[in-house]
Amino acid sequence: MRFDIMTLFPELIETVLSESIIGRAQKAGILEVHAHNIRDYSKDKHRRVDDTPYGGGKGMVMFPQPIADCFRAVCAETGSRPHLIYMSPQGKPFNQEEAKRLVRDYDHLVLVCGHYEGVDERFIEECVDEELSIGDFVLTGGELAAMVVTDCVCRMVPGVLSDEACY
Ligand code: SAM
Repeated sequence: MRFDIMTLFPELIETVLSESIIGRAQKAGILEVHAHNIRDYSKDKHRRVDDTPYGGGKGMVMFPQPIADCFRAVCAETGSRPHLIYMSPQGKPFNQEEAKRLVRDYDHLVLVCGHYEGVDERFIEECVDEELSIGDFVLTGGELAAMVVTDCVCRMVPGVLSDEACY
């Protein structure tokens, strides 16, 4: 199973998910986890990724162009259109049943980590297949949430745990 995490902080993802059971499963070729820096796709000369919300409102949101181009690059790399999940406090609550569904229904997931006041609504409407929340609280960014979902779904992939009983 393959995971691509789109983030402003790829080092956070790589540091955590390259260790322990998930790290070993990647080395064994059972899993692939890739982190992509959304900022690398900014066309702004200062590599900005935030903007005022299109529909108005307070704060800044992540501008759609760099995220959409980052997603296009993942699609082009794999020659497919993977299932795209936006980590959001307003999403469907993530739990063990959701993890079982994701591992059963998909072999490739892309997770988007928001920052600031979130992601521009136009990207969500155009590209996002579902929104998932890891709980009724608000984090500063989606990285911890994406890592929770990735860790939990990866754990369910056959071969990742040593013994059938562990699942
Ligand atoms: N005003 C935004 C809203 O109501 O959705 C909050 C944005 S939050 C400060 C920044 C980012 O953190 C979000 O875009 C999302 O990716 C992530 N995030 C925060 N809390 C989360 C949660 N409980 N579950 C999943 N992602 C969360």
